[in-house]
Amino acid sequence: MTTCPNLRKTREKLLLGPGPSPVESRVLRAMAEPTLGHLDTDFVAIMDETQKLLRKAFQTKNELTVTMPGTGSAGMEAACVNLIEAGDRVIIADHGVFGRRMQEVAERCGANVVKVSAPFGRPLDEEALFQAVRDNPDAKLVGVVQAETSTGVLQNLDQIAAFVHDAGMLLLVDAVTSLGGMEVPVDRLGLDVVYSGSQKCLGCPPGLAPLTLGPRAIERMRNRKTKVQSWYLDLTMIMRYWGEERFYHHTAPINMLYAFNEALRIIDEEGLHRRWERHRRNAEALWAGLEAMEIDLPVPYQFRLPSLTCIALPEGIDDGKLRQNLMERYCLEVGAGLGELKGKVIRVGLMGSGSTANNVLFFLSAFGTTLNAMGRKTDVGASLDAAGQVLTA
Ligand SMILES: *Cc1c(COP(=O)(O)O)cnc(C)c1O
Repeated sequence: MTTCPNLRKTREKLLLGPGPSPVESRVLRAMAEPTLGHLDTDFVAIMDETQKLLRKAFQTKNELTVTMPGTGSAGMEAACVNLIEAGDRVIIADHGVFGRRMQEVAERCGANVVKVSAPFGRPLDEEALFQAVRDNPDAKLVGVVQAETSTGVLQNLDQIAAFVHDAGMLLLVDAVTSLGGMEVPVDRLGLDVVYSGSQKCLGCPPGLAPLTLGPRAIERMRNRKTKVQSWYLDLTMIMRYWGEERFYHHTAPINMLYAFNEALRIIDEEGLHRRWERHRRNAEALWAGLEAMEIDLPVPYQFRLPSLTCIALPEGIDDGKLRQNLMERYCLEVGAGLGELKGKVIRVGLMGSGSTANNVLFFLSAFGTTLNAMGRKTDVGASLDAAGQVLTA
């Protein structure tokens, strides 16, 4: 992809793709503060504050709430390696690319993985998942993606959590594209292991994976017969670094943690509920604007994610060309389709500080005028009007 000739300054592009999301200057400035030692008392105070703020963001009292070095996938890997032993049977559901990634990671842990799949663009069939739980009573854990970024589909967890817990299994949840943008009901539903990524709705650069484990998951870790396969991601050691002992395990990514701490402060200042409402309202405005342009949204309304919208490409519009035009003319990044949706959709993220009324109106006008220039006539005025009505309601 070429860079944007409209840029006044280098690299000032608007990130409305599936992540990373735009990072506020406050967060970037925090990152530029002097590097401290990983056992320095001032740094340790930042770790403690980060941990408190992260528990608030996860809405949990879980003692074991930390950030792992690495991106969201490191969180996925950490959750799997700590809770799965070779030979364990686990059930991992997928309704898109990231559920499949979790299956792959679990397989690499030596698990016997039972897969339950949903078609692209739909959530899981809960009854099919429950049947897999009934058919595999020896399964130790069920893994589910709450916010599937490859399709923009939300998976409701209420019934699943109750069923999985009744069966005595642990529930592992991917909250990479939900944490900070909508409710992740960690304590309300007793989700056992939940991980996320710093660069989506949390508004931080990529590089950290927040992770929280509840009491049942810790008990499972304690009862392992074998050592965790990965030395680096072994939580039994990492928890000793985040705890009172400050046991040296690895050098914490100091400046990333400054940034993450600042991003969590911004979330705390805004308030979780207000932040979710903001994500919701701006997504509703985007959807109204697209519908007024007669653009098809493949995911039915009740399953849509506020943080990521899948947009079907009109007949004859080439996905690569469209995204290139958006970048060259408007310095605007959106995502390509993944998996089965490659070439058929674009993905628009309104995540973290990227979820604003201005960005919705800007995206709709950039997208509409670009489609017009590519020969597909759309009513940009009607689109902005429809979005504006949601934004001013
Ligand atoms: C982005 C994403 C991941 C992977 O995160 P990386 O930061 O790219 O490693 C995992 N799951 C979901 C749902 C995601 O959106």
